[in-house]
Amino acid sequence: MSNSKRLRIAVQKSGRLSDDSIALLKAIGIKLNIRDRLLIAHSTNEPIDLLRVRDDDIPGLVMDGVVDLGFIGENELEEKSLERKAAGKPFEYETLRRLDYGGCRLSIAVPNEMEYSGVESLNGKEVATTYPYLLERYFAEKGINAKAVMLTGSVEVAPRAGVADAICDLVSTGATLEANGLVEKEEIFRSKAVLIKRVGGEMSEEKQALINRMMPRVDGVLLAKE
Ligand code: ATP
Ligand code: ZN
Repeated sequence: MSNSKRLRIAVQKSGRLSDDSIALLKAIGIKLNIRDRLLIAHSTNEPIDLLRVRDDDIPGLVMDGVVDLGFIGENELEEKSLERKAAGKPFEYETLRRLDYGGCRLSIAVPNEMEYSGVESLNGKEVATTYPYLLERYFAEKGINAKAVMLTGSVEVAPRAGVADAICDLVSTGATLEANGLVEKEEIFRSKAVLIKRVGGEMSEEKQALINRMMPRVDGVLLAKE
């Protein structure tokens, strides 16, 4: 648990955030010996253990205090925080830094042939998404009576498959949308990767001192890349 003497950091095992997160840790002087198949990687020069997991698990690991720090996309972080709040689970965290990678937007897209004259056109529609809490919050803010249909993958084929009328998914270039006959209409959330810290429970002086030593180095790396 988080009362371990070593600082525990959660990173995505393999995916869009993995390489940049590991590169940032290395750039601030943390030596890591990562073996591809292993869940845990130990630093060889600092009392740090990396937990390599699916990005979906990272917010919960931080909010439950299983790890001390985590690298995660704001989209996943905010979604999980809303989901956990609704379920009565711990949903708090502290954002230490907003990072310079993992940029994307969560957008609503509709089939080319759908008549669309603004977000009101979604009234009475079903929208497939992996982010039902973020989407429902957006609908509530806009006063739209539409339904979020949860899909964990292949969201972009949902309209063609007759599973939903529209979608709400992450976009970076828009190529996937176009390939599936969809047009982006509403951006509902802008995201980047962030470094977060747990807030519950005690943090030993040693661990806090290590975090305090890391953060100026993170700032230095971010500044150098600007
Ligand atoms: P995992 O197996 O860890 O669950 P995943 O398939 O959910 O992986 P990735 O596709 O690697 O996740 O995306 C991880 C995060 O990268 C996203 O949640 C988002 O914050 C960010 N990201 C940046 N650009 C994009 C993009 N074009 N599409 C999707 N995610 C992106
Ligand atoms: Zn994921």
